[in-house]
Amino acid sequence: MTGQELVEQVREARERRQAVIDAVCGACENKCCKQMTMMGTQDLRRLVKVMMLDPAFEQQVRDGLRRVADNLEADLRVVREVADLIAASGGSSLGGEMAELARNIDEWADFVQWLRGDFPLDLDEMRRLLFFSAIRSNTINCLARFRGGLGALVNLSADKASFQFRGKRIAPPACLFYLDDVGCICNEAKPAKCANFFCAGVPNLLEELRKTLSFDEFVLANCTASSIDRILEMMRLERRLGTLFVEPKILLGASADQIDMVASVMGRAGERVRVRHVQRPGLRSAAEVEQELVGIADGAGLIEVFPGINGNTLYELALALDRIRLRDEHPSFALAAVEVLPTPMAHPLWDDRMMAQPLGVLDLFVVHQ
Ligand code: SF4
Ligand code: SF4
Repeated sequence: MTGQELVEQVREARERRQAVIDAVCGACENKCCKQMTMMGTQDLRRLVKVMMLDPAFEQQVRDGLRRVADNLEADLRVVREVADLIAASGGSSLGGEMAELARNIDEWADFVQWLRGDFPLDLDEMRRLLFFSAIRSNTINCLARFRGGLGALVNLSADKASFQFRGKRIAPPACLFYLDDVGCICNEAKPAKCANFFCAGVPNLLEELRKTLSFDEFVLANCTASSIDRILEMMRLERRLGTLFVEPKILLGASADQIDMVASVMGRAGERVRVRHVQRPGLRSAAEVEQELVGIADGAGLIEVFPGINGNTLYELALALDRIRLRDEHPSFALAAVEVLPTPMAHPLWDDRMMAQPLGVLDLFVVHQ
C-alpha cells in the first residue's frame, strides 16, 4: 500500500478506532480521565511542542484550561467555605493548621489565576501544570486534620463543586485536561500512557479494539496523515528547542525526495547524518533495534530506509522506542518506508492481554502529498 490508498486506509482505521473509544470509554466503570492527571515532564514537552506548532491547537488548550480554571475555582469556593466554618467553630485555636490551610488556599488561588492568564508558551512556565495535584492533595490532607472537615467539604460541595467520598477518602479529581462535554483537550498531544491505551477498565478498551480491528488496521489507526512540510517543521522545532525535544520519526509512504529533505533538516541542525538502505528487511527484535539506536552518538543522526515495512516490524520498533522513551533518551533517528506491507501474522503481544499497546505515542506518519 502506498500513496493515496494508504492515506485512505489510515483515515478509515482511525475512524473505526475512534468509534470503539467512544463506545467503550463512556461505558467503563473506571473512566481514567476522571482519575487524576497522568502527565509527566516528557508528556508536557510533547504538549508544549504541539502547541508551538499549531496556533489553533494552542488556543484550544488555553480555552480548555480556562474552563478547567472555572471548575477549580468552584472547588476552591467550597474549600474556603469549610475553612470559614472551621475558623468560626474555634479552629483558630489550632493556629498552625489554620495557617497551613490558608497557605494551601492561596497556592490554589494563584494556580487558578495563572491557568486563566496568558501564560508564556514555555516548558519551565508550564511545569506548573504538573504541580496542581500536589496543591489539591495538600489542601485535602490539611482539611482532614480538622474534625468533620472532609464531611463538610463533601456536603457543601453538593452539585456546585467536585468533592465526593470514595470510601473514607475524597475521590481523585478528574484529569486537569478533561472537560465533561469535550473530553480530553490535548487531542493527539495527550500523555504517553493515554496515547498507548493503558486500560484496566471493564469493558476493556484494548480487548474491544482487538475484536473490532485487525492487527494491521490497529497499526494504521495509530498513524497520522501529514504533509512532509509539517513533519519537517516539527523536526526543525525539536532541534531548536533542544535535544530533549527530539523524538524519532517514522514516515510511511515517503518518496526518495522526501527522505532527502528529512536528511537535510537533520544535517542543517549540525548532525552527521547516515542514511542506511535496508534492502532485505528481516524482522529485528526490539532488543536489536534498541542496541542500534543507543549506538547513535550525540551529534549524529541515522535514517533507515526500507522499500516496504509491515506491522510486525513497526511493532518491534515501537517496543524498542518505548523503552528508550522511558529512559528519557532522544536519539536522532528516522525510519522511512515507501510501502506498507500486509503482516503475515499479528505480533504475539497484540493478542497477549497487554494493559497498553506501544504504538500510540510514536510520531508515526503517513506522508500525504
Ligand atoms: S481507557 Fe479503559 S479505563 Fe480508561 S476510560 Fe477507556 S475503557 Fe475506561
Ligand atoms: S490527558 Fe487526556 S486522555 Fe489522558 S487522562 Fe487526561 S483527559 Fe484523559
